[in-house]
Amino acid sequence: MPRTPKLKPYTIPELLPEFEAFYGPRAWYSRNEPMRELAITILAQHTSDTNAERAFGLLWARYGDWQAIADAPVEDIVETIRTGGLAQQKGPRIKGVLQEIHRRLGSYDLWPLKERGFDGALEFLTTLNGIGPKTARCVLVFSLGIPAIPVDTHVHRVALRLGLLPPKMAADPAHPVIERMVPLEDRYRFHVYLIEHGRGVCRAISPRCGECPLHERCPHYASLLKAKPQQPRSKAKAGATRRALAPPPAESVAG
Ligand code: SF4
Repeated sequence: MPRTPKLKPYTIPELLPEFEAFYGPRAWYSRNEPMRELAITILAQHTSDTNAERAFGLLWARYGDWQAIADAPVEDIVETIRTGGLAQQKGPRIKGVLQEIHRRLGSYDLWPLKERGFDGALEFLTTLNGIGPKTARCVLVFSLGIPAIPVDTHVHRVALRLGLLPPKMAADPAHPVIERMVPLEDRYRFHVYLIEHGRGVCRAISPRCGECPLHERCPHYASLLKAKPQQPRSKAKAGATRRALAPPPAESVAG
C-alpha cells in the first residue's frame, strides 16, 4: 500500500518569496515617532488599530503634549480614551509610562533608544510598567527601525498553523524563537506578511485555505483535511467547508 508523502513545512527562505508573490513587496518606513507609537500601541491592546488611532486622536486633541498627559488627573485621561476600550487599565498605564520615561530620560524623546540597539531598547521598554515584549517590539520595528517581530494574535496563529513554532507555544515566549529564524533584514516584511495573511486569509475562524498559496505544505490545512471525514456536518456546512478547503485555481495563486 503506498504511503502518504510526508508533509515538508515551509522554511523562512521558502516562505518569503511565496508571500511576496502573493502580496507584493513591502518596504520599511517609520510610521510614527516612538513615543506616539508606544502610546498608540498601548491603546491598541485588546482592540483594533482603528479604535486605538481614534482614542489617541481624542487624547492628543484634549492635551496636545506629553507633559500635559503625564500631569492630567487619571480619571480625565480614562474619560477621554473611553471609546478605545479598557480605558480603566490603559489610562493609568499611559500616565505611568510617561512619568517613568521622564524620570529615566528627562524628556519624552525615545529616539535615543535607537543607539542602545535591540537588547538595550527592548530592556528599557519592557521594564516600564505594563509594557510587554509585543508592545516594546512594535516601537522597535515600526518606529525606531530596529528589526524585531512583534508576535500579535495573527503572527502567532499563522506561525503555529504553518508549523514554524512548536504546537501550543504561547505568544510571549515565541518572540525569540521566531526572531532567531528570520534574518534581520527580513524581519519587518515577514512580520507584515504574517499580519496581512492572518487578517485576510488565515483567519482565526474559517481560514480561507482554498485561496491560500501555502496550502500544499501547510500542516494545519493537512490536519483539517484529515479531520473532515470524522466531523458529521449539515449539508450546507459541509458544502461551505469543501469550498473553503478546495485548492485554489492556478491564476488566483499566481496573483
Ligand atoms: S493553508 Fe489555511 S491554515 Fe494554512 S496558512 Fe493557508 S489559510 Fe492558514
